[in-house]
Amino acid sequence: VASSVPTAEIPSIETPVRDVLNFIDGAYVSASGRFFDKRSPVSGALIARVAEASRDEVDAAVKAARAALHGPWASLTLPERTDLLYGVADEINRRFDDFLEAEVADTGKPLSLASHIDIPRGAANFKIFADVVKNVPGEVFETPTPDGQGALNYAVRAPVGVVAAICPWNLPLLLMTWKVGPALACGNTVVVKPSEETPQTAALLGEVMNAVGIPKGVYNVVHGFGPDSAGEFLTKHPGVDAITFTGETRTGAVIMKAAADGARPVSLEMGGKNPALVFADCDFDKAIEGTLRSCFANCGQVCLGTERVYVERPIFEAFVDALKKGAEAMKLGAPDDPETGMGPLISEEHRGKVLSYYRKAVEEGATVVTGGGVPDMPAGLAGGTWVQPTIWTGLPDDAATVTEEIFGPCCHIAPFDDEAEAIARANATGYGLAASVWTTNLTRAHRVAGRIEAGIVWVNSWFLRDLRTPFGGAKQSGIGREGGTYSLEFYTELKNVCIKL
Ligand code: NAD
Repeated sequence: VASSVPTAEIPSIETPVRDVLNFIDGAYVSASGRFFDKRSPVSGALIARVAEASRDEVDAAVKAARAALHGPWASLTLPERTDLLYGVADEINRRFDDFLEAEVADTGKPLSLASHIDIPRGAANFKIFADVVKNVPGEVFETPTPDGQGALNYAVRAPVGVVAAICPWNLPLLLMTWKVGPALACGNTVVVKPSEETPQTAALLGEVMNAVGIPKGVYNVVHGFGPDSAGEFLTKHPGVDAITFTGETRTGAVIMKAAADGARPVSLEMGGKNPALVFADCDFDKAIEGTLRSCFANCGQVCLGTERVYVERPIFEAFVDALKKGAEAMKLGAPDDPETGMGPLISEEHRGKVLSYYRKAVEEGATVVTGGGVPDMPAGLAGGTWVQPTIWTGLPDDAATVTEEIFGPCCHIAPFDDEAEAIARANATGYGLAASVWTTNLTRAHRVAGRIEAGIVWVNSWFLRDLRTPFGGAKQSGIGREGGTYSLEFYTELKNVCIKL
């Protein structure tokens, strides 16, 4: 990583452009000599040149991970390993501002958001999984045998091996460490492929690993794209034992095919088209506040975010009005402006996709309650990838805008008349990641939560996370669960030992 970390101020042409390198076997390298540009979502200015890993560099990273797996990493005791991981968390916190600046420069998200969620969670992910592996009990079965002596069966966990982590751009450090934390805690070594849009915090983490004394080769980073680039080279590499992926469902399917060669396990955290169900008996203000966050936080670029809102008819008009007011009050601005409620989208390409849905919604007959376009931004920000927070009503349930994941700051609000109808419409999707239910009726809350087809249901809240709980998607939103001891299912091989007594 180059010496100067970009500041969180609006990048200007004078901002030094950094070189972001691959991190292989404890050293920063760019053997291929090929670089790609990374632009600021806030201003459009060039902020970094990122080394694209060649097939040979990916191979070197996998080999380094393999050597470390059987070398110094394997020889550590569990307390030695977990102490190092606590050290990683502490060092991230010590370098909090560097991580914050790098993350904000790559994503354009408000400083207030990144400093409360992305960076603290990035550090916490190492601590929590160090605690999990230290405290998880084993299991023993006493088995009767015909000779009366019996046998003891006990299960022990071994690392799964070299883990490839393919990561998205929306919560870059948080979602990457959600994989690397448990992988390392379980004794694996990793090769991380960050999103091409957000390379900096993954690269910076290499400095932390070296500072703390994590053996070289345990943590490696290769930059690049998906097809015919680092993502494909890594997932197709026969030296990779398991692949953990977060990103679009379409990409997950491609990765699953790559994993089929060698029958390697995959953990897939994928897209969503998450519903919110708002009942007339809800605490109205809390439902509005929660839905504003679930629709517009991180400019709508949260996999758990709401894009479909179903509101019980008696409060439909009032709900639409209040959400409109909230959306219109949200200030779009620079990350370091304390008034900023929403940043830009991640890239020009993603803005093209989101705006295509803004147009499609109108073609499909939507009433645009608010937004629907590109805001006028002041000089310095005009080159950024801004869009207006947008609310629609009046679309049929089968409209593309209501069925396809947009991943922008937008939602469609529809009225419903009874609970069964609301549940059926919420479930009428190929996705099944998350849902929010807003009601003060306790019985209804349990009943509806039980019937929603999703990996996570929040009642009277959204994004309230306890890292010990299972996290993952139903249907096409994912395969497997991570979090707490559930991560051990993927990051370890459980081995049964049977002892005849
Ligand atoms: P994406 O699928 O475009 O990219 C994710 C990663 O996969 C990137 O690193 C990319 O370079 C890599 N990739 C792309 N094609 C590949 C290929 N053929 N082989 C190997 N790697 C490849 O996703 P994104 O746009 O970065 O992220 C947004 C998506 O992620 C949304 O769909 C969102 O819902 C989803 N997401 C899900 C969760 C979850 O926990 N379920 C969390 C965050 C984001």
